[in-house]
Amino acid sequence: MDIDLTPQQQSFRRGLRQWLDDNLPENWGGPAYLGPDDDEENAVLQTLWERRLYEAGYQGVAWPKAYGGQGLTMVEQLIVSEELGRRAAPEGINTIGKELVAPIILAAGTEEQKRHYVPRILTVEDIWCQGFSEPDAGSDLAGVRTRAERDGEEWVINGQKVWTSFAFQANWCILLARTNPDKPKHKGLTLFLVDMKTPGIEVRPLVQITGRKEFNEVFFDNVRIPAGMNVGAIDDGWNVSVNLLGYERATARLYRQARFMNEFEQLLRKLDARPEITGNPYYRQQIGRFYAELGILRQLNLKTVSRIVNGDGIGAEASVVKLFWSELHQRIEDFAFEAIGPAFVTDSKDIERFRYNFLQSRAVTIYAGTSQVQRNIIAERMLGLPR
Ligand SMILES: Cc1cc2nc3c(=O)[nH]c(=O)nc-3n(C[C@H](O)[C@H](O)[C@H](O)COP(=O)(O)OP(=O)(O)OC[C@H]3O[C@@H](n4cnc5c(N)ncnc54)[C@H](O)[C@@H]3O)c2cc1C
Repeated sequence: MDIDLTPQQQSFRRGLRQWLDDNLPENWGGPAYLGPDDDEENAVLQTLWERRLYEAGYQGVAWPKAYGGQGLTMVEQLIVSEELGRRAAPEGINTIGKELVAPIILAAGTEEQKRHYVPRILTVEDIWCQGFSEPDAGSDLAGVRTRAERDGEEWVINGQKVWTSFAFQANWCILLARTNPDKPKHKGLTLFLVDMKTPGIEVRPLVQITGRKEFNEVFFDNVRIPAGMNVGAIDDGWNVSVNLLGYERATARLYRQARFMNEFEQLLRKLDARPEITGNPYYRQQIGRFYAELGILRQLNLKTVSRIVNGDGIGAEASVVKLFWSELHQRIEDFAFEAIGPAFVTDSKDIERFRYNFLQSRAVTIYAGTSQVQRNIIAERMLGLPR
C-alpha cells in the first residue's frame, strides 16, 4: 500500500485538524476529561458529536454517495480515524451502526435496505445495538437459542440476549436468531433487523466495573416483526455474521492506535515530575517498548487496510490485530497503574481518566471474541495447527 499522501489528501488532513481545533468539546482530551459521568448526558454529547462530524463531511467517508457517504477512498477514511484518535475525540454512540451494521448491509443487504438504513446511521437518526451473545452462547456463538418462527407474513421472536452494548439507547438491533433448529447449528441461523420499539422487547441495563451502564440484557417475548427484515438469506446468518465480526475486529482501529498514543503521552507528561520513574531503567525500558509496540500496531492496521483496499478481504489476520491491540491496551493501562502508584486510587479527578481506562480495559480481551478464541483462530486458520 502506498501510504504517501497526495496533496489533496494532505489538505484533507489539515482541514480536519483545523475543524477539530474549532469543534471539540471544551477541555476535551485534558488529563481529567472523560465527558459527563451521567449516562444520559453522555449519550447526548456523543450523539451530537457524531451528527456534527457527519454534517462536516467526516462520517461514512469511503461509503458510496448514493447511501449518504462521502464517496472518498479508504485513505481518507484512515486519515479521519487517525486524526480523531490523535485528539482522543469522543467515539460516538453509533459505533455498532457504523462499524458493524452499515458494512454488513452494504455487503449483504438489499438495495432498499442500503438506501433506507445506511444514511440514517450517519445522521444518527437510528442508533444500533448488536444482539448476538446469549447466556449460553458467547464464544460458542453458533449455540444461539433465541428462536424466530415464521407465522404468515411475520416472524415471532422469543429468547434472551446479554451484554448488548447500547441497547438502552438503541432504536434498532441487528439480531442473530435460530430459524431452523433441524439444521446443523451453524446452518439454521438468520440475521434480522429489529425495531427496538416492537412490543415484547424488554431492556435491562447492567452496571459495569467503571460505574457506567454500557451494556444490557435484552428479553424477547413473542416479538412480531414483518417478513423481509432479514439481512442476507434465511438460514445463512452464520456466514453473514462471521463477515461482520471480521469487520468488528479490524476496521476503524487506527483510531485506537492513535488514541492509545495520545493517552500514553498524557501519562508520560504526568510522570515527568517523577524522576524516580523517568530515571529508572526498568520504567524507561517499558516506555521504549510501548512506543515500539504502538508503532507495530499502526503497521498492523495499515496492513489490514491494504488487504481490504486490494480486495483480499480481512480473513483470520483480523484476529492478530484484535489480539495485539487488546492485550497491548491492557498492558499500557497496567503500566499506568503501577507507575502512578497509590495515587491511582487516592488522587482526585486529575487521574480519573487513567483509572477509568484501567477498569474499562478489562473488557477489551473479552468483547469481539476473547483472546483465547483469537488464539484458536490464529492457530487453526493461519498456522494450520490441529484443533
Ligand atoms: C464490554 C462488552 C461489550 C459487549 N458487547 C456486546 C454486544 O454489543 N453484543 C453482543 O452480542 N455481545 C457483546 N459482548 C459479549 C462478548 O462478545 C462475549 O462476552 C464474548 O464473546 C465471550 O463470551 P462469554 O462472555 O459468553 O464467555 P464464554 O464464551 O463463556 O467464555 C468464558 C471463558 O472461556 C474461554 N473459552 C471459551 N471457549 C473457548 C475455547 N474454545 N477455547 C479456549 N477458551 C475458550 C473464553 O476465552 C473465556 O475466558 C460484550 C462483552 C463485553 C465484555
